Amino acid sequence: MKILIATSKPFAPVAVEQIRKVFETEGYDLALLENYQDTSELLTAVADADALIVRSDLVNASVIDAAKQLRIVVRAGAGYDNIDLNACSERKVVAMNTPGQNANAVAELAFEMMLYQARGGFAGKTGTELRGKTMGLHGFGNVARCMARIAEGFGMTVSAYDPFISDEVFSEYNVKKCESIEKLYTSSQYVSLHMPANEKTKGSVGYNLLSGMPEDAVLINTARKEVINEEALLKIFEDRPDFKYLSDVAPDCSSQIAGKYPGRFIFTLKKMGAQTEEANINAGIAAARQIVDYFKTGNEQFRLNK
Ligand code: NAD
Repeated sequence: MKILIATSKPFAPVAVEQIRKVFETEGYDLALLENYQDTSELLTAVADADALIVRSDLVNASVIDAAKQLRIVVRAGAGYDNIDLNACSERKVVAMNTPGQNANAVAELAFEMMLYQARGGFAGKTGTELRGKTMGLHGFGNVARCMARIAEGFGMTVSAYDPFISDEVFSEYNVKKCESIEKLYTSSQYVSLHMPANEKTKGSVGYNLLSGMPEDAVLINTARKEVINEEALLKIFEDRPDFKYLSDVAPDCSSQIAGKYPGRFIFTLKKMGAQTEEANINAGIAAARQIVDYFKTGNEQFRLNK
């Protein structure tokens, strides 16, 4: 059995070491393709792989076509908009993700950005506190639940909008359930985005929602840049001098914001949310175990495609 880890942005070495142990114990071969620059390198490397682990790497139809022996691809992470699920299904390749494994890392990054912004980048001026402020979570999955836990510690009032989650989960996390998305934005000084990027959500955070936010609004985006309507983003920056945007990673229009609105944004240079040793280890080992489990028992618990 040959397993390929293909990561243009590699796992931390400590994570690779632990993933290797999982496969060695089973007697599987592990090949690494790290820091690759061109898809052609991936097409060659994947040719004789039975299983593939990726991070944000693009797994499109040509990758699947080149992988003649491939039976399973696992995205070590939560968002799977980089995997062509239809192409996987057509070739009978099982696609999985590892939900929840990097959630704490992403939530911590959101708070790191919020705290840095609230204290004016530690530049010596008087800042503000998080205690007593309102936090709205758009989407209430794994990352948002970590956000709720941390926000409670800071003394924030937390509400969330997620039509796919049961009332019990909201109660369990002591979070107020918002019945409408508009209500979430009008009632929250801080709004943090935690829904996936899909046909329904792409471009869905627009001017109507953003303009309804209370004074000193802060929008935090650790989901995907695509969920924001960028025309609306530029307009709200222009119309509302109190509006701030903290994002992992920069929007396509970042140069227009950086040039005009200094001090009102934080954009990470590369996607940083899952970039902790702990998250790399958790997601990498989960991916490895899911592959072993699939080959040994047929377990498809985290399967994404039909
Ligand atoms: P998750 O799957 O656990 O949660 C997503 C939640 O969004 C689910 O509860 C779902 O019901 C909800 N949802 C779906 N459509 C919605 C809609 N239209 N309106 C409101 N809610 C909706 O995922 P997660 O682990 O919490 O991650 C959330 C997103 O964050 C991922 O999809 C991914 O794109 C992104 N992410 C980014 C990083 C990073 O490095 N910045 C790391 C992990 C995840």
